[in-house]
Amino acid sequence: MATWLRGGRIYDGGAGGWRDGDIRIEGARFAAIGQAGTPSGDDTVIDIAGAFLLPGLIDCHVHICVPTETADHNNPWAGHLPGEIAIYAAEAARRTLMGGITTARDVGGWDYHEIAVRQLIRRGMIPGPRLFCAGRLLSITTSTVMSFPGMYEVADGPEQVRAAARRQLAMGADLIKVMATGALTSTEYEDARAIQYTLEELQAAVAIAEANFKHCAAHAHAASGIRNAALAGCASVEHGSFGDEDIYALMAEKGTFLVPTSCVTAAMLADEAVAAAIPRHHHERYVSFEDVHHRNMALAKRIGVPIAMGTDAGTPGNHHGDNAQELVSMVHGCGFSPQEAIEAATMGGARLLRQQDNLGSIETGKLADVVGFAADPLADIRTVRNVRFVMKDGAVARNDF
Ligand SMILES: [Zn+2]
Repeated sequence: MATWLRGGRIYDGGAGGWRDGDIRIEGARFAAIGQAGTPSGDDTVIDIAGAFLLPGLIDCHVHICVPTETADHNNPWAGHLPGEIAIYAAEAARRTLMGGITTARDVGGWDYHEIAVRQLIRRGMIPGPRLFCAGRLLSITTSTVMSFPGMYEVADGPEQVRAAARRQLAMGADLIKVMATGALTSTEYEDARAIQYTLEELQAAVAIAEANFKHCAAHAHAASGIRNAALAGCASVEHGSFGDEDIYALMAEKGTFLVPTSCVTAAMLADEAVAAAIPRHHHERYVSFEDVHHRNMALAKRIGVPIAMGTDAGTPGNHHGDNAQELVSMVHGCGFSPQEAIEAATMGGARLLRQQDNLGSIETGKLADVVGFAADPLADIRTVRNVRFVMKDGAVARNDF
């Protein structure tokens, strides 16, 4: 009993275009692409003629537990029940899947509710993307810790970092997230350009992660923080705002992925209620950083840094389910071609997650994740925000054709 997608236009990353044909799916995996044979009587045939089909999109930077409707991220869950957070995260996961994201990496959860959601998705009890979770993110002592009590785990010095990394793994984490520099969505007392973890502390986190067949993701804005993360062997730098030619060349040489999160400011400004209510220091930082951030993403791409798409969904106004807006930002803001943005959101993410044998392209043997559109996203990238069809693991999650 196979499932067929008939008559679609199938994205071919290698050739950078479309080829017409059928897709045969057996169980959770692609069994044949293109000339896929003839359905037999008990097969399920889905007529998807003319639809543009991409591999399921991968968002390598989300926070499904964080409410995007709340403008002030100074302890956004204060006064709420723990169950509200878990249910919010489950709904955020559902929306994320409906938005075409079949795989997401959560790089800072909230009291492990995101891991609970991951487990229920795996068991088929609730809809959502395939989740890779960091659990709590590891941070030095900062003023921001109190703003995100469910997300931050304080660990100062290599010994505490090792213990904190082990605690995340014990709670089921798939990766370790560390703060190499200050953040934008932080208190007034924190500076995104300041170094937080030292090289030695980052190396401690990477050693524990890699010893357990996991990777380490480093939040870094400041140049020397990016350098430390690359030298320590972190698999990805998140944001990477203030690099320069030498820093990005080092990332390219080490194979360190950059996760641009370039839609954060546009997403915040697009939600008028959030933009009006956001604390002033957050608003000012977002707006004043955007130009240099976008320019530097373009520079990093030109230098050859491997790129994986990530939205930072969870920041104010950066709503769960509109994750594909990041591709638009990469193309219109950072000078990526539509194909480069799509590759970052498919094979780029798959490689960063070390899942290139399972994810990232529509190829025989890989997991059958497909997202479909009525128009050609290579011709107009804005199409990716208008998802019409989603399949994950060979099961249809959405079909508006
Ligand atoms: Zn983030």
